[in-house]
Amino acid sequence: MTNNVEKVKEKVDIVDLISSYLKLQKSGVNYKANCPFHNEKTPSFTVSSERQMWYCFGCSRGGDHFSFVQEIEGVDFPEALRLLARRAGIELDQFDRSFQNTKTRLLAVSELASKFFQKQLWESNSGQKALDYLKSRGLKEETIQDYKLGFAPDSWQSLIDFLKNRSFRDQEIFDAGLSVRRENGSGYYDRFRSRIIFPIADLNGQIVGFTGRVFETRPELVEGREAGAKYINTPQTAIYDKSCLLYGLDKAKMPIRNQDRCLLMEGNMDVILSHQAGVGHAVASSGTALTDQHLKMIRRYTNNLDLCFDQDAAGQYATDRGIGLALQQSFNLGVVLIDDPNCKDPADYVQKYGDKWQAKAQEGHSIFDFYIKSACRQFDSSTANGKKVIAQKVLPLLKRITSPVERAYWVGELALALQTKEETLNAEMEVLVLSLEQNKGRSPEKLVELVGSDTLEDYLISLLILKPDLVLRTSAEQSSPNQFYSEKVKTFLEIFKNYLIVGQSIKVLDYLTQIVLPAKADRMYLEKSYLQAQERWPDWLEAKNDLQNEFEFILHQLQKRNINSKLAELEMAIKQAEKRKDKKLVVSLAGEFQNTAQFLGKI
Ligand SMILES: [Zn+2]
Repeated sequence: MTNNVEKVKEKVDIVDLISSYLKLQKSGVNYKANCPFHNEKTPSFTVSSERQMWYCFGCSRGGDHFSFVQEIEGVDFPEALRLLARRAGIELDQFDRSFQNTKTRLLAVSELASKFFQKQLWESNSGQKALDYLKSRGLKEETIQDYKLGFAPDSWQSLIDFLKNRSFRDQEIFDAGLSVRRENGSGYYDRFRSRIIFPIADLNGQIVGFTGRVFETRPELVEGREAGAKYINTPQTAIYDKSCLLYGLDKAKMPIRNQDRCLLMEGNMDVILSHQAGVGHAVASSGTALTDQHLKMIRRYTNNLDLCFDQDAAGQYATDRGIGLALQQSFNLGVVLIDDPNCKDPADYVQKYGDKWQAKAQEGHSIFDFYIKSACRQFDSSTANGKKVIAQKVLPLLKRITSPVERAYWVGELALALQTKEETLNAEMEVLVLSLEQNKGRSPEKLVELVGSDTLEDYLISLLILKPDLVLRTSAEQSSPNQFYSEKVKTFLEIFKNYLIVGQSIKVLDYLTQIVLPAKADRMYLEKSYLQAQERWPDWLEAKNDLQNEFEFILHQLQKRNINSKLAELEMAIKQAEKRKDKKLVVSLAGEFQNTAQFLGKI
């Protein structure tokens, strides 16, 4: 297994890996991004190509390829290994059989089911009608293939039979959400029947679930109970959780990153047709409200989120769809307006206008402007009651704007639209109690405990990692006050001296991480310190003397600080000794105090 870990690390560059999730920007010798694991506006998530590791200065998470994939995909180590091996092109068969866990089986059965649905669409007679329908909606054949669209035949058993013939068990098929248990307990039947099938993929393009959609008006379907719904989705399974899946994101993630913008729509068809028309940064939340997890995923790629609206979208829409949550998390929200009354969604628009959708999708409108205008259209802003309703619609949204300046601006705009005073609106906003929406599902960030907690000491150590021979100065001129360093600093000074003697053939950080301090937390602390040093002294090679001065200055500060705290300690001890009337002790402590104070005066 270690071998596989090494192989993966050899083949997969960590910068490439993380780039496929986040928008990385070059910063000195390293790369930076907004951290996907905590909320932030200025990037503190750092990736080092040289060290093949990542670290976030904001939330103190960090590690290698595997820990990154584990964190960002929410998977365990074996699953991360599997994903990375796939990426590296390493044969999965080399892996231990035990990695064929439940999740892997569910992914396999979903993949196979998707092949079955595709075959039905392209090759069966009943599938032909579905295919014609898709083409009539404007989908090209390549698109239909690319998105693996399929057809579920009008049958209760054909998918189950097909999968069981390929050695999947009833329970596995059921666990993947592909079958439904009969109410009388006598077995299972196919969940998706006589429907167009949209496979839902995770970020890596692995199929984890399906949406089945009716495509013709069939009275017997409409009257049926479950079958009547326009859409049927895979229920929650071990691999399918709609609160953290965005339709089309596997294909849209690169365009989103490149354009630094994400366009959110409602339906799968909207996304597919948008992509086909060249609007690659479109994803859909598939009818559910935006969740915290959705937003976290989007934030890996961009902070700019556009929402698709038609002109009639009511103000209600805002809270319905998690927009408040997005505002709360400081997304820059925009609106893409579909302004043709005959088009109710992007799919309609693409069908009518084709590639013109590209230009339209780039027209950003302010979401607040949009809300104020649409509320004013909906209600009469000249009456007292109308003003009240409009304010009630718009203020909850404005209250969620995190920037006070921006909020004040839009309150001003609303006041103007309502011909009312800003103070009145501000007072109204004050008393608004926001729903718990924005706090649901947020767990306190788990922090990795690191050895480093003292800024000045960390500063010194990071400096030494950058330029270990600085330590030589301490032995000559600064050796006597060594007693005033903390244990940690003393230990490190010793380690760096040893490195200079024995470790010249190895990089200092490798020496430290592989030979001296093997504990995981210590390794991460050192890696972090190195990143910090690179950041603080980007041109350290040209600034040798500055580093020397810096180093001595820090040592000096550390001494001063430790001496001062020593003096405070002595003072306390003297007071206690006086209380106990222990004269002998008082005298000896006072002597020590004097010596120490003198030393402080000298340095
Ligand atoms: Zn972070």
